[in-house]
Amino acid sequence: MGELSYPFTQSPQPGSSVEIAPGVRWLRMPMPGSLDHINLYALEDASGWTLIDMGLGDEPTRELWEVLFAGELAGRPVQRLLATHMHPDHIGQAGYLSERFQAPLHMTRGEYFQARAFSAGGNFSSMSWESAAFYRGAGLKPEDLEAMRRNFSGGFGASITPLPSGYHRLQHGDCLTIGGRDWQVLVGSGHSPEHACLYCRQLGILIAGDQVLPVITSNVSVHPTEPEANPLKDWLDSHDRFLSLPDETLVLPAHGDPFRGLRKRLRALIAHHEDRMLALEEYCTTPAIARDMLPVLFRRKLDTRQMIMALGECIAHLHLLMHRDRIERVTGEDGVWRFRSIDPDLERRLRAEHSAPDDGPMMV
Ligand SMILES: [Zn+2]
Repeated sequence: MGELSYPFTQSPQPGSSVEIAPGVRWLRMPMPGSLDHINLYALEDASGWTLIDMGLGDEPTRELWEVLFAGELAGRPVQRLLATHMHPDHIGQAGYLSERFQAPLHMTRGEYFQARAFSAGGNFSSMSWESAAFYRGAGLKPEDLEAMRRNFSGGFGASITPLPSGYHRLQHGDCLTIGGRDWQVLVGSGHSPEHACLYCRQLGILIAGDQVLPVITSNVSVHPTEPEANPLKDWLDSHDRFLSLPDETLVLPAHGDPFRGLRKRLRALIAHHEDRMLALEEYCTTPAIARDMLPVLFRRKLDTRQMIMALGECIAHLHLLMHRDRIERVTGEDGVWRFRSIDPDLERRLRAEHSAPDDGPMMV
């Protein structure tokens, strides 16, 4: 994967912060499971703080925010909230903080309205025919669907504080001036529909959210809400956009430690996904169903929740292969998709070895 450098040896303790650069603070909030934490960032301006991402919508995170407001962030109000994307660990406290400080929430349109739509209704306990057809297509059995219904009760809306009823729209290329410095909005896609990153040329800093992570790979999945989506194409296209940033850029990710070596990381991620796709193509020389391909991508035993994430990721790889005309999908009378490699050039591209299946957490 190549060596990245990590210039900060100390991560922030709960309720405190680490100064990354003048006016740029790194905060951490707890998360359950192997992810362990999410990184949040606070940008200082004379009139108040801009918070980048806000943590899960739970009580421990809210209490830690209050510790910060009484301590290291005291003396200035929060004047702006900026969410990189709509996942609950990023927007969980947006509603609470927006209410508390009467501070507007800044997001891209795609992220804000997807969050609104997901919180408004629909979850796995009332699985729609679209969801059932999608997972049947992927090869899940009725008992798997039943386990999903039990696992996913509650839904998206229960994991965040109620979203602000309005928002300020961010678009690619927008520029926010904070603390006398320009922060440019760079939009990526694939992990979520319209993910905002912030780049400050003067400081050489990219606040990357989940768009580029140093150790784990961001989840890039097809979901039943858009069963024909091609998010891996979106994601790889986004990487091309970020490859043009200076290599010495300090990347501030949402998970893991700040690092340098952006291009190296992007190239490694691109190579990783290309390798995964080739491994799937090889597997599909005999027609195969998505569920049976999971061991090609993931080594460890998957619980129900992880299996859903893994399936979404597997299908994302298959969709990009279909887009490239390397695989075809045939839907059987049983509603199950069977994928078959069709590229006559595959034999020439075959590799003796692939990198090992992933073993890291996926719930990012
Ligand atoms: Zn995310």
